Amino acid sequence: MVSTVIPVQPFDLVIFGGTGDLARRKIFPSLYRRMAVGQMPTDARIVGAARSEMDVKAFRKTVSEALDEFVDPKVLKPEVVKNFLNCIEYVQIDAKGTNGWPELKKLLNERSDSIRAFYLSVAPSLFEDIATRLSKSGIATPDSRIVVEKPLGHDLESAVALNRSLSQSFCEQQIYRIDHYLGKETVQNLMAIRFANALFEPLWNARHVEHIQITVAETVGVEGRGAYYDKSGAMRDMVQNHMMQLLCLTAMEPPARFEPDAVRDEKLKVIRALDPLSASDTVRGQYRATGDEGSYLDHVGDPSSRTESFVALRCHISNWRWAGTPFYLRTGKKLGARLSEIVVTFKHPPHTIFPQVDAQKGNALIIRLQPDEGITMRVTIKDPGPGGMRLIEVPLDMTFADALGEEAGVMPEAYERLIMDVIRGDQTLFMRGDEVEAAWAWTDPIIKLWSESSVRPLPYDPKTGGPIESYKLTGAEGHLWREISA
Ligand code: NAD
Repeated sequence: MVSTVIPVQPFDLVIFGGTGDLARRKIFPSLYRRMAVGQMPTDARIVGAARSEMDVKAFRKTVSEALDEFVDPKVLKPEVVKNFLNCIEYVQIDAKGTNGWPELKKLLNERSDSIRAFYLSVAPSLFEDIATRLSKSGIATPDSRIVVEKPLGHDLESAVALNRSLSQSFCEQQIYRIDHYLGKETVQNLMAIRFANALFEPLWNARHVEHIQITVAETVGVEGRGAYYDKSGAMRDMVQNHMMQLLCLTAMEPPARFEPDAVRDEKLKVIRALDPLSASDTVRGQYRATGDEGSYLDHVGDPSSRTESFVALRCHISNWRWAGTPFYLRTGKKLGARLSEIVVTFKHPPHTIFPQVDAQKGNALIIRLQPDEGITMRVTIKDPGPGGMRLIEVPLDMTFADALGEEAGVMPEAYERLIMDVIRGDQTLFMRGDEVEAAWAWTDPIIKLWSESSVRPLPYDPKTGGPIESYKLTGAEGHLWREISA
C-alpha cells in the first residue's frame, strides 16, 4: 500500500532555537524526511534563528551533522540532502534584545507571498519576548503561525498568563500548541477506528466497557536532567499534557465534523467532566537504587525531594457515556519496558456456557503507541485440537508497519505530520488554549494536596510496574493492570 503524499505550499519556517537539542533531534530530521518523500517543496526556506554567532555555511554544517545523526541512513540521499541544505538560512538573533530582528524581517520580506511560521523551540520564558517582537516588528503577518511546545505553564495561573501573553500578539487560530503524542499515527487511528467504523462505537460506553487503562512507561531514569525534572514530576511532565490528551481522544463524543474546533470542543468537554481526584485515587512513587544505578533521590541530588517519578491515577468521567467506568492512568520512569498504550477492556459476556471461565480475561482493544505502533484485539477462541472445549486468548494483531507494507516506507514521526499540519493551517491535532487551562485546573488541586502532605512517594524497584500500591488501586475494583514488559 503506497501512502499518498500531497505537497504543501511553499513556506518560510523560522526556528527560534535552531541550534538547540529539539531542533537537531526532531525538527530538522522531520523536515528532511518530508522533503525526501516529496511533501516539502524544494523552494521552502527554513531559517534557524538562535543566539550563536555563525554564518549560514556553518549553520548548514550543523544541520547536516544533525541529519547524519538522527535520520535513518536508508533515507539519507545525497541529492535530497543537498536540496534540503539549500533551503536552510540562519539569522543570529537575540530574543530579548534588538539584534537580528531587522535581518530576519529583510530575509522574510524577500518572499512575502510564502506561508510564514515561527517555531519557538526555546525556553518558555522567551515565548512572550519573541511573540511580541514578531508582532511589533511586523514580521508576523495576520496569516502567520506560531508554534509552541510543552511546558505550557507550570500550573493554571502560569498557563493563563502564557495564553494571555501569546494572545496579545497572535489570535488563537494562529497558535499551534504541539503535543507530539497527537501526531502519532496510532492516536489518529484511535479516531479513525472509533468514528469510521460502525463496529466499536455502539460498544464504546460504560455499559460495555469494564475499564480503560492508559500507560506511558519509560525505562530511563532522570539522570542528567534531574534538576529540571524534580521541579516538574510525572504529573506535570506526562499526565497534564500527553496522557490527558490520550484520555480525551479515547473518551470524547463523536464530533459533528472532523474540524479543529469541533474535535477540540469534544476533548474539552471530557476534561471538564472529570471528577476531582482525591488522594485515595492516586499512587505516587520514586524509584529505588539498584546495583550501581542510583535512586531517584540520588539523581536529583536532593534526599528530601517529594517529586514523583511514578504516578497512577483512578479517574472517573461523570457523563452519560462513562459514568461507572474507571479510567486508570499510569506513567513512570525506570519501569519494566518502554511502552505507551491504551487498553480498552470490555465486559464479560453476561452468561457463560463454557466451564472454563477463568481462562477468559475478556475482550480488550489494545492501542499501542510505542513500540511498534498498532492495534490488537484480544479475543477468546477455542484451543485448537481434540482436547475438548478449552478456551484460549489470542490477539488479532494489526501492526501498522506490517499492514501498510514496505512501500509505505518508514512510519512518519509525529513531528513530521505536525509541522506539515502547521504549514497546511490545520489545528485539529494541536491543543487549544482552553484545553490546556482545563487540564491544569484538573491537575492543580491534587498537585497542591501532595505538596502539602507529609506522605512521601512510595519507593519502587526499577524494571517493575511501579509501587505495589498501584495494583491495589485497580485491584480495589477487581481490575488488573497489564504487565509492563517488553
Ligand atoms: P536547548 O537549550 O538545547 O536550545 C535552546 C535554544 O534556544 C538554542 O538554540 C539557543 O541558541 C536558543 N536561545 C536561548 N536563549 C536565546 C535568546 N535569548 N535569543 C535567541 N535564542 C536563544 O533547548 P531544547 O532542548 O532544544 O528545548 C527547547 C524548548 O523545547 C524547551 O522549552 C524545552 O522544554 C522544549 N522541549 C524540548 C524537547 C527536547 O526533546 N529537547 C522536547 C519537548 C519540549
